[in-house]
Amino acid sequence: MSRKEKIIVFSAHSDDFVIGAGGTIANYSYAGKKVLAIVFSYGELSHPWLKQKVVQKMRYKETEEASKLLKCKATFFDLREGKFMEDYQAKNLKIELLKIIEKQKPTKIFTHSHEDPHPDHRAVHEMTLDVYNELKQKPELYMYSIWNPVSFKTHYPSLYVNISKTFSLKLKALWKFKSQKVHVLYPFILLMYKSIKDGFKMRTTFGEHFFRIK
Ligand SMILES: [Zn+2]
Repeated sequence: MSRKEKIIVFSAHSDDFVIGAGGTIANYSYAGKKVLAIVFSYGELSHPWLKQKVVQKMRYKETEEASKLLKCKATFFDLREGKFMEDYQAKNLKIELLKIIEKQKPTKIFTHSHEDPHPDHRAVHEMTLDVYNELKQKPELYMYSIWNPVSFKTHYPSLYVNISKTFSLKLKALWKFKSQKVHVLYPFILLMYKSIKDGFKMRTTFGEHFFRIK
């Protein structure tokens, strides 16, 4: 029996995996690969006036809808924003993540960049490496950028993915995150700038750019 190739994408907040890798995810899943997004926080801080449960439900529903479009699956952990590392240690999340990865046996993992200025994004990067170091079977490890769109000095090799065919799906999936728009809408202009810039590298319309770090 042939086993489907699997890919895991780590995502600090519910919309990060769509912003950073949505087109690539759709490329993979529509080619028959299985993609799992692991979302670490519901992001209650963006709606302090709403009850925690209400925000969680809203985020869960939006993420389900976005995932359906991208044909991937999403699973949530409940880390508090700004306290990712603390909760990661306290909840012994490393064990759970190891279990998931060892069960799924992904060929690739995508995670946040260590140069992303958002502290939760950097925490996820740190957590990823912490878990990765324990893995017996090591998949390829890539990082994507959210808040650091300009290229920086790095010795890591680049991976450019042509997302011209899945870019509209990515946008549609992104529009599902209505609750994020109240407080933090990822600047559309930044997304367009990045997608076109990365696409240009491959002489195509839209692209996504990753660094391979392991
Ligand atoms: Zn985020």
